[in-house]
Amino acid sequence: HAKSEGRGRFRFFSEEMNHKILHRVALENALRQGLERGEFFLHYQPQWDLRTNRMVGAEVLLRWQSADFGLMLPSEFISLTEDSGLILGIGEWVLRSACQQARLWARQGHPEFRVAVNVSSKQLKQQDFVAMLNQVILETGVDPKSLELEFTESVIMENAERTIETLEALKDMGVQLSIDDFGTGYSSLNYLKHFPVDRIKIDRSFVADVSRSTDDAAIVEAIITMAQSLSLKVLAEGVENSDQLHHLSQLGCDEVQGFYLAMPMPADALEGSLGREHGRRVGKHEVTE
Ligand code: C2E
Ligand code: MG
Ligand code: MG
Ligand code: MG
Repeated sequence: HAKSEGRGRFRFFSEEMNHKILHRVALENALRQGLERGEFFLHYQPQWDLRTNRMVGAEVLLRWQSADFGLMLPSEFISLTEDSGLILGIGEWVLRSACQQARLWARQGHPEFRVAVNVSSKQLKQQDFVAMLNQVILETGVDPKSLELEFTESVIMENAERTIETLEALKDMGVQLSIDDFGTGYSSLNYLKHFPVDRIKIDRSFVADVSRSTDDAAIVEAIITMAQSLSLKVLAEGVENSDQLHHLSQLGCDEVQGFYLAMPMPADALEGSLGREHGRRVGKHEVTE
């Protein structure tokens, strides 16, 4: 009866696989329609300068209010958009929307405020990415200095030579560049000098234990020291409590971002605090409209 059991198990797995494939297809179709239906929207998570205590920028985070699946976070759909190529259209929409928003904030008296957009490897590898971005900048009238593009370490290491050329073209346009989730990939700190980046974002896994683990504190300190010698800014992400904030400040970290200071929020919710000094954190829960 081992045989029949095996067959049963096979049928079970195949049904499960079937279900997964169907779910994927449905999700992909919903994503495809999401752009046309206007189901995507953006949240902005403030970033603070630790020296001046001012809000100096915000990271742009994609949200999807799907008619079929409800509210979806990037972890549930970004990789599918990358596999299917949908990330190109969605990514362009994110860039255009973020640039429009930055332009609006500049008009409202905050020309220095920066918006940081996550860029996927598929986008960076796209032949006409630089031309597309140039077009978006011209159309929206945004000052390129107030736009920052975030790439992960692995993206940058994947195809180092071509990537450097693309990054240099982006720098020539005047945009700022940062390396996201720094410390989780394989690049050596020393390798950073080959890339024309302005800022590194220390991954939140190191920030989590910075006040409890001497190892993590040492790693953060090493990253900050190296960054300073290369004249790069360091932003720590995922700051969730005052202990972490205090330690990062002591270690000489330039900027911070995290739930302790502010949750990701709609653009209008952030407007009142633009350029202001921070007191207490802004907002307890992520507000979704
Ligand atoms: P990321 O670029 O590292 O973005 C930071 C993520 O950490 C965000 O998650 C944010 O909500 C979360 N976060 C911020 N502060 C804290 C904190 O104090 N504690 C904890 N535990 N988490 C915190 P989110 O919005 O779910 O985004 C996840 C990832 O999805 C992003 O990671 C980014 O890689 C990707 N992503 C988001 N928006 C876009 C986009 O427009 N395009 C692309 N290609 N990727 C995006
Ligand atoms: Mg990011
Ligand atoms: Mg990150
Ligand atoms: Mg991350």
